[in-house]
Amino acid sequence: MRPPPTDAGLQGPFLLSTDTINDEVVEGRSGAYALGYIDNFGRFCITYVGSSPSDLNARLKDHIGTAQYFKFRHLPTDRVAFEKECELFHDFRPSGNFLHPTRPDGSNWTCPRCRTVALTR
Ligand SMILES: [Zn+2]
Repeated sequence: MRPPPTDAGLQGPFLLSTDTINDEVVEGRSGAYALGYIDNFGRFCITYVGSSPSDLNARLKDHIGTAQYFKFRHLPTDRVAFEKECELFHDFRPSGNFLHPTRPDGSNWTCPRCRTVALTR
């Protein structure tokens, strides 16, 4: 079952600022995230999705200034974070993501939604 468009299985939304990121996101942990804004109906609209294999806190700070809000979820491993990013990409087709997420160099991970597609740049 697909999650509803405003949920995505992530926590938030939170204001995309250094203080909020430090309050909510544990340093040095992997995870996936979505950036976006709140529309006139109070819904979180996703404009970009991503993941970090090692430090979600630091990755989110790189995006400060590019979006108003973020949602996130800590995930146990870098691979799970990658797969979550792929699912978010397929579910929401964010306007800011031009390309399918790429797997890390040297891994043979596949997207859970398009397993047969070779994930190359
Ligand atoms: Zn895919």
